[in-house]
Amino acid sequence: MSRRPPCAGLWNTPMVHVDGDVTTCCLDEHLENKIGNLRTHSLARLWHGELMNRWRIAHIEGRFADSGPLCTRCNWRSAGALPDEKAQSWLDAFRARAKRRRRD
Ligand code: SF4
Repeated sequence: MSRRPPCAGLWNTPMVHVDGDVTTCCLDEHLENKIGNLRTHSLARLWHGELMNRWRIAHIEGRFADSGPLCTRCNWRSAGALPDEKAQSWLDAFRARAKRRRRD
């Protein structure tokens, strides 16, 4: 069986419902992966926040049960796979930012 890759949805396709609720992708019509609401936070803050980054790292490390509740049992193929080189460059940038924050 081939390895399940990280889902590109977590990087590429935030989904905003009509009442401002934000989730990870268009498959999440029942808001199982809700990350917040635009009435209280900006999209940038939600999409690049700690929770999303935790879920992204879980996908990269193959720990899908530690990601959004819907991700665990999702047919991620509809959103597509995040290419390995994109996952690696995101991880490198994420670690560099964390290192800078620790130094400041
Ligand atoms: S794995 Fe499924 S639920 Fe999770 S972000 Fe991708 S498409 Fe959405």
